[in-house]
Amino acid sequence: MVGKHYVQQGTLQEALVLIVDDEPINAMVIADLLANLYKTKIVYSGEEALEFCQHQTPDLILLDVVMPGISGLETCRTIKNNQNLQHIPVIFITSVKSQNDENKCWEAGGVDFVSKPVNGITLLNRVKAHLTLKAQSDFLRKMSFTDGLTGLYNRHLLEDVLNKYMLQSSRTESPLSLLMLDIDWFKRFNDSYGHISGDKCLISVSNVLKDVLHRPNDMSFRYGGEEFLCLLPDTDRAGAEHIAKTILQKIADLKVPHEASPFGIVTASIGLYSTSNNESYKVNEIIRNADKALYLAKQKGRNQFTG
Ligand code: GH3
Ligand code: MG
Ligand code: MG
Repeated sequence: MVGKHYVQQGTLQEALVLIVDDEPINAMVIADLLANLYKTKIVYSGEEALEFCQHQTPDLILLDVVMPGISGLETCRTIKNNQNLQHIPVIFITSVKSQNDENKCWEAGGVDFVSKPVNGITLLNRVKAHLTLKAQSDFLRKMSFTDGLTGLYNRHLLEDVLNKYMLQSSRTESPLSLLMLDIDWFKRFNDSYGHISGDKCLISVSNVLKDVLHRPNDMSFRYGGEEFLCLLPDTDRAGAEHIAKTILQKIADLKVPHEASPFGIVTASIGLYSTSNNESYKVNEIIRNADKALYLAKQKGRNQFTG
């Protein structure tokens, strides 16, 4: 999960720190130190820590090294090998003293360590430093794939995702559909109402897309200024037509006035393209096909879909 609220709020209070120690008293001491600053959760073994991470993603893990069952080192290695968890910083809480043992912590993927007995001030500062770095990198990760105005994905991510979806679709012989949407007479809209209203309109349209697409693998992108692209995996032409119709209806239902449009309200046109099993495609081709269909929808009078 990226882009937690604490990034926007400029505070780390929402951050969740997972404390893993088989000695309850050690875990309690650490939890007390962190109380009022962050949310904390204590678990007593590596197994429990991994189980917890299946359901919730902590922002930082304080991990005891020597524990019965899965050791701290092994727990850390498992986390670092998991694509969904590997960005969580792990700080080892360790009583080990030798250079060799220290090296093992680094090799396992730890970002830092604090020696036992714990110096409270040191621990607090290390936790704060790594939570801050984590919040910043979450923020950058989120920013680089999403469009600042609408919160939809931006086109940087599109090629990569579309490529993966196409491979998946041909492997499972399942259909993949694409919608390319462009707002009608949008230049005129800006000319009539100004760019700030234009931007608000873009946000409303993107909210329609978020509202209509709710399958977990559906994705909407802001493709260009007032152009949007929806990827609908496992969706055949009939399904995509249904989605396209619903989107157009919901945009009309917004009833955003547009005096310079023959429709009197903001509308959009959609080009639809669905892959069929016996053809092979390149990413650019499939986008071009949706774009051609969009052009046709514009030609045929706008406020409609074709494809
Ligand atoms: P149609 O698509 O129906 O053919 O007409 P159109 O006026 O929408 O045509 P076109 O796609 O050529 O124009 C796009 C216009 O969208 C240009 C610009 O005024 C506006 N636009 C593009 N990006 C943004 C943006 O980020 N914010 C705002 N407010 N307007 C934008
Ligand atoms: Mg356009
Ligand atoms: Mg347009």
